[in-house]
Amino acid sequence: MGGTFDPIHMGHLITAEMVRCAVPLDEVLFIPSARPPHKDGTRAASPEDRLAMTKRAVQENPHFSVSDIELKRDGLSYTVDTIAELQSRSHGATLFFITGADAMNDLYLWHEPKRLLRSCQFIVATRQGVPLDELLLAEKFTAEERSHIQVLPTPHLEIASSTIRARIREGLSIRYLVPRTVEEYIEKRGLYREHDKEL
Ligand code: ATP
Ligand code: MG
Repeated sequence: MGGTFDPIHMGHLITAEMVRCAVPLDEVLFIPSARPPHKDGTRAASPEDRLAMTKRAVQENPHFSVSDIELKRDGLSYTVDTIAELQSRSHGATLFFITGADAMNDLYLWHEPKRLLRSCQFIVATRQGVPLDELLLAEKFTAEERSHIQVLPTPHLEIASSTIRARIREGLSIRYLVPRTVEEYIEKRGLYREHDKEL
C-alpha cells in the first residue's frame, strides 16, 4: 500500500486489514512515498517523520510492515520501479497494490501507467464519495490491462490526512482518527501546527 501517509490514519489501517483478510494476503507492506510540499495550505511532515509515524502505526500488527524503498531512492520515485524492485526481491511472491478509488482514477497520470498495471494486481478499496471512474479507465486502458484491477468493498471511513492536518492547525482533537502512538508522536514533535509559510 503506497501513500504519503502524512499522517497515516485509521482509514489506511482498517482498509489494509480488511483487504488483507479478503484477498487474503500474507503481509501488507506500507510504502511511504516521497512528495513535494502540500498545496492545501497545511504543513507537510518530513519523510523521516512520516516513516516514523507509519512504523509506530503498524507495530502491533504482525502482518503489517513498512518499507523505506521509495524514500531511500534518489530522484523521482515511481511506483512502477518500486513494484519491479519488490518483485525482484520477493522470490516469486504475488504482489498486489492496494489503493483507494481516488488514487486509481488518477493512475493514468502516473509514470508508465500501462506497464504499471500489467506488473501486478491492483486492489481498489472503495472510498466514500469517490466512485471508481469506470468510463475513464475504459478510455485509458485496454480490457487486458483493466483485468489487473479488482474492486473490493471496504468499510467507508471518511478520514483523510488533509482533514487531520487541518484539525491540528485549528487546535482540534485527532483522537481515534489515528493510532494513539501516532497522536503522541505528532504531539511530541509538534507536527502540522503552523501554516506552510511559502504557500
Ligand atoms: P491526503 O488527504 O493528504 O490526500 P489521504 O488521506 O488521501 O491523504 P494518502 O496517503 O494520500 O492519504 O493515501 C494513500 C492511499 O490510501 C491512497 O490510495 C488513498 O486512496 C487511500 N486512502 C486514504 N484514506 C483512505 C480511507 N479513509 N479509506 C480508504 N482508503 C483510503
Ligand atoms: Mg489522498
